[in-house]
Amino acid sequence: MSDIIQLLPDHVANQIAAGEVVQRPASVVKELLENAIDAGAKSIQLIVKDSGKTLIHVIDDGKGMSVTDARLCFERHATSKISRAEDLFNLNTKGFRGEALASIAAIAHVELKTKQENQEVGTAIRIEGSKVVSQEVIVTPKGTSLAVKNLFFNIPARRNFLKSNQVELRHITDEFNRVALAHPDIAFNFHHNGSQLFNLPISNIKQRIVNIFGAKTKEKLVPVDEDTDILNISGFVLKPEFAKKSRGEQFFFVNNRFIKNSYLHHAVVSAFEGLLKEKTYPSYFLFLEVAPETIDINIHPTKTEIKFDNEHDLYAMLRATVKHSLGMFNVAPVLDFEKDQTLDTPYSFKDKEASLPKIEVDSSFNPFQQEERTFKSSAGGSFKSQKTKSADSWESLYVGLKDEVGSSIQIESSEQQEVASAMFSDVNEEEHVQHTFQLQNKFIITTIKSGLLAIHQQRAHERVLFETYLKQITGDEGMSQQLLFPLQLDFSPSDLGILLELKEQLFKTGFDFKVMDQQIELSGLPIILKESQIQETLESLINEVKSGLPEDTFSQNTMIAQLLAEKSAVKTGTSLSTEEQLQLVNQLFACKETQLSPTNKPIFTTFTTLDIDKKLS
Ligand code: ADP
Ligand code: MG
Repeated sequence: MSDIIQLLPDHVANQIAAGEVVQRPASVVKELLENAIDAGAKSIQLIVKDSGKTLIHVIDDGKGMSVTDARLCFERHATSKISRAEDLFNLNTKGFRGEALASIAAIAHVELKTKQENQEVGTAIRIEGSKVVSQEVIVTPKGTSLAVKNLFFNIPARRNFLKSNQVELRHITDEFNRVALAHPDIAFNFHHNGSQLFNLPISNIKQRIVNIFGAKTKEKLVPVDEDTDILNISGFVLKPEFAKKSRGEQFFFVNNRFIKNSYLHHAVVSAFEGLLKEKTYPSYFLFLEVAPETIDINIHPTKTEIKFDNEHDLYAMLRATVKHSLGMFNVAPVLDFEKDQTLDTPYSFKDKEASLPKIEVDSSFNPFQQEERTFKSSAGGSFKSQKTKSADSWESLYVGLKDEVGSSIQIESSEQQEVASAMFSDVNEEEHVQHTFQLQNKFIITTIKSGLLAIHQQRAHERVLFETYLKQITGDEGMSQQLLFPLQLDFSPSDLGILLELKEQLFKTGFDFKVMDQQIELSGLPIILKESQIQETLESLINEVKSGLPEDTFSQNTMIAQLLAEKSAVKTGTSLSTEEQLQLVNQLFACKETQLSPTNKPIFTTFTTLDIDKKLS
């Protein structure tokens, strides 16, 4: 029999390797940014179109490549960074495997332009699926420009596997942030589809964090600093009260390389012991420096996991150092911070003159009476008064239900509704003026045919609002209360990106805003929401998205409606007038679902006269 083993052609080998190195557009971003840094760039531009599916372009002012190197860099195992295996243990560069460019060129259309400082002219090379299409001499500034177009053009399966633009852009932003945080001594600029997402001048690490995550971060940072023989630790943790529900901003850098390490993560979390609210995670930006020979970076193709020789010692030191910093901060908070006074003013008071406090009570205000407030449709015109499906009053609900045929009230024929209607169906006509009262500002108690009904006011209102918001998001027109004075709210660029993603859905719930540099200008908000709740509401929404935005629009809408309902619902502890209680009961029983809150908690329970009789027997 003839021999059957053959060496794979290079372009096939490269495609296979590409599967490891390039999982998604963000992987390309990471490799190109790292190459620019390794080339000694002082300023790096990232230009992306369609979340990297169409274009990823990195331009640096680094040392550039010679004509030969420009051609060679696309070969597999072509690297200028190591030449001997021992070099692996003394790395000062991001790259070393010499795989990235070969892999990327195997699965995309690549255009390289590069020039070294001491050369008159540079080189341009175009490669498509590992094949060199053209090479020419060009005039170009010092440094390298590498454009990667139509990623996975020749692997449709991989292309189809890519997530939505929002998700891919978030991955890219994450990679960008990681690289930018590790190198505050380099200026970065990031454009997506023509708009600038980040502009980061050369600065110190604290300023870099603030430039990426927004001005408000500054006062949340607690410095961490410790030098020992085997480990230097520097950076910041966020004060415990700013711990987030989502695993958001957690960054470890080892010798300036972003890494993931759950063991070290645990060390930091355990340093926060006793300081965190349940189910919240601390944020941190920690830079560890260890001797290069004590780590092995080569265990993972994308180089985000590394092995330490002395993990246990590092754990103990890290934990103790963070604990110490938190302790220092607790004892003497002012010593650690140069406080920027302007950051302390709540946004709604910024630029406003101080005035003596006065008490104003709007006695006619009723949070449930949506119809009576002035609305403008978020599209601009004035809004036509929208009647809710709720019956006009509790009494009419009774009358209608009693007189089942020809009832003027439309009740969904769902199982829950039948339960609800059965409860009220044969109340004595004389008794139809309904009584309610509030128990401990938490429950609304009312009588029904078989006894008593106790309704959890907060959950009931959440249900009512949830259905209202959901209807608005999925409908054509939203209701919005227009603000007399637009509000400016600060957000980090990546958070602004998330708000932009959700703009259309938010618009329908009543949020009307323009995105500007580091801010939004808000001119309208959902009718139920108070001004003071906006920032918190939007931040929770952003956090929710960060911990995983559902892919399909339906679940996204549900998530938004749920969150808005939760934020704007009347809370346990709020006293309600009789009229408000009645209206809430009316609205609840006009909902599609009456028994469960949007987070699936029971809304009401009944106490039958039978139960009461038993107790009294
Ligand atoms: P690695 O970074 O592991 O060496 P790459 O495939 O990423 O492998 O790059 C191959 C080589 O191409 C690098 O070693 C470097 O010499 C050269 N190179 C890549 N990008 C740049 C750049 N932006 N500027 C200068 N040289 C570069
Ligand atoms: Mg590289």
